[in-house]
Amino acid sequence: MYQNSLEYARKCDLQDPLRSFRDEFYFPKDSQGNRLIYLCGNSLGLQPKNTAAYIQEELNDWATLGVEGHTDAKHPWMPYHEFLTDSMAKIVGAKPSEVVIMNGLTANLHFMMVSFYQPTPERHKIIIESDAFPSDRYAVESQIKFHGYNPKESLLLWSPRKGEELCRLEDLEALLKEQGDQVALIMIGNTNYYTGQSFPLKAITHLGHTHGCMVGFDLAHGVGNILPELHDTGADFAVWCTYKYLNSGPGSLGGCFVHERHAHNSDLNRFAGWWGHNKTTRFNMRHEFDVIPGAEGWQQSNPPILSMAAIRASLDLFDKAGMGSLRKKSIALTGYLAFLLDEMKDDRITVITPRDPEERGCQLSIQVKSADRTLHDQLTKCGVISDWREPDVIRVAPAPLYNSFEDVYTFVNRLKSVLK
Ligand SMILES: *Cc1c(COP(=O)(O)O)cnc(C)c1O
Repeated sequence: MYQNSLEYARKCDLQDPLRSFRDEFYFPKDSQGNRLIYLCGNSLGLQPKNTAAYIQEELNDWATLGVEGHTDAKHPWMPYHEFLTDSMAKIVGAKPSEVVIMNGLTANLHFMMVSFYQPTPERHKIIIESDAFPSDRYAVESQIKFHGYNPKESLLLWSPRKGEELCRLEDLEALLKEQGDQVALIMIGNTNYYTGQSFPLKAITHLGHTHGCMVGFDLAHGVGNILPELHDTGADFAVWCTYKYLNSGPGSLGGCFVHERHAHNSDLNRFAGWWGHNKTTRFNMRHEFDVIPGAEGWQQSNPPILSMAAIRASLDLFDKAGMGSLRKKSIALTGYLAFLLDEMKDDRITVITPRDPEERGCQLSIQVKSADRTLHDQLTKCGVISDWREPDVIRVAPAPLYNSFEDVYTFVNRLKSVLK
């Protein structure tokens, strides 16, 4: 089906119903003004051309209205986060009441653990995947210590078997069979940032709940990439950032999911703030904390409008494209990348990401035998923006919203020439 030619890649682009979205983005260029091959949307998504206008609207309203902008801005600031909720909920497959945009990702992870990690001497352990993103690991370890436990005893790793790169569900099952009654929380990064492996969210949640554990996911590399269907998975909570596949700009706000079964759960601890308080009485300033049911009740501060304006700009594009169509293109596009890498027939190259599209998003992690960072530097020199992970892995992530089949074709050709 796939063909290894530029002509074929261009034909695929012509037939791509989402091809016009590429023109909605700014692409970084080299010093001669040539567009770079940008395959780094898993790290920082590109800037939509409409972002500036969305931010400018808020700057204008602030300039002309001052504090009155909270109620009188074209998009009033007081409820501004609500303008993001429906689109965000669609992207992660949740009900609007289960989703809120707030804080940074790691902060949200901590706030979620305040509620969903309440260890007891009998049940104090947390399971994470062994290749968890460092920030997640730090967050989890520090929560364990905060509660007076020792990560050496309380942190369990779901690891790949010796000689393998990917985690197997049956090994998580075995770990739970052995120690499940001591596990308070399972917190898995999905899709894994290093290997690109997507874990089965529903199966993990079911497994965790069967053993009486809370289950949460970090969707930093999943949101805007796979279809997590969070509500259906039954997960207790999830967190993510919006600056990777959601293209909302460096350091922009994160998102949070709390399953509706916890909407009115008053057994959960929480670190509260006024933005989680009943909207109709918030400004009376004297009431006892009267929490908003659902995810909004976990908000603390009034959020940065300029960052949310950038998120709104990007989510409007996702609304137009639709996650279903994006995922469909993504499977074809990353499939093409996998095909071309196979065609290289180069023994030095191993794709460590699963082959089955169901078990991965758009990213492929390419291990290059006896390579070092200079390989990545050479790729950069010839106009490819990819991502290097020690010791020997290049991560490339064709984003279906703005990458083309020609991008993928050109990347593989440049990789070939660099490896020569
Ligand atoms: C990108 C990423 C982070 C970054 O955390 P911030 O709090 O947004 O700086 C954390 N965890 C994972 C899994 C990530 O991929």
